[in-house]
Amino acid sequence: MPVLIVGSIALDTVKTPVEEHADLLGGSASYAAVSASFFSPVRLVGVVGTDFPQEHIEFLRSRGVDLDGLQVVDGRTFRWSGEYHWDLNTRTTRSVALNVFEHFNPVLPTSYVQTPVVLLANIAPALQMRVLDQVEAPRFVIADTMDLWIETTNADLRRLIPRTDLLICNDGEARQLTGETSLIRAGHRIREMGAKFVAVKKGEHGCLLFGEGQFFSCGAYPLEDIHDPTGAGDTFAGGVAGWLAGLGKETFHFQDLRRAVVYGSVAASFNVEAFSLDRLRSLTREEIEERYRTFRLMSQFEAMA
Ligand code: AMP
Repeated sequence: MPVLIVGSIALDTVKTPVEEHADLLGGSASYAAVSASFFSPVRLVGVVGTDFPQEHIEFLRSRGVDLDGLQVVDGRTFRWSGEYHWDLNTRTTRSVALNVFEHFNPVLPTSYVQTPVVLLANIAPALQMRVLDQVEAPRFVIADTMDLWIETTNADLRRLIPRTDLLICNDGEARQLTGETSLIRAGHRIREMGAKFVAVKKGEHGCLLFGEGQFFSCGAYPLEDIHDPTGAGDTFAGGVAGWLAGLGKETFHFQDLRRAVVYGSVAASFNVEAFSLDRLRSLTREEIEERYRTFRLMSQFEAMA
């Protein structure tokens, strides 16, 4: 079952305490699309400028990503630059240039209109809604967001949330969106805003999943060496969406969501092992399954006799 993904496609400049790299392939949709492609066919919606390197297009194509919804327009590609602090968990955005994103008008190719699973990766909620408006009766809609939209386009985001089956955000964003300090309360509050399920990511501490009277806490796969955390959230979202789509079901239950967030976490754990999408270039489905098994063994504990 295919998954439709809309989001940013970017050229990133990333600085960590040990390395700095410029003009890397990035963007929420790039990470999400490649991550999802390990589990299901992907249809990408996005925009790049004429400066976007052909090799990146070839890479996406090599992952089987359908690029009929990718617009190449006159101008410069979206650019983002960020700097990580010593703990690699917090970062400062150094610059954002919307460039071709400023006038982006997503139009779905007719071949995309009937896509059962939709991932609205991180971009302005108004754009996410414009894409969603064009999909005919999607079975499962996932949306990711960020602090910027909670701050600047809160009303749009509040209109989008009731249209989502799963809203993904991180701990800080969940607190910002709800005004709650407790993440458990925040998860419930976001459900009350209209999302059927909510996933709250906690960086290196895993994620929390909320459903109706249902709760799941998933750890994070322990890694000794993190090279570049950029895109971990997008890779997580792509893994969740791709894995659910790969199930090919009519409806998705909490049990499916539980497994999906574990696959998302596993995919994200690979992504942070190298800069940009580089680790995903060599990654195989077998490696994902092997890490899933190891992760499971690390996370389970026995019932008392
Ligand atoms: P993450 O590390 O999961 O927060 O995602 C980082 C990616 O998000 C980078 O590759 C950026 O290009 C992209 N990004 C940063 N800011 C924005 C924004 N305002 N809208 C869309 N994408 C963004």
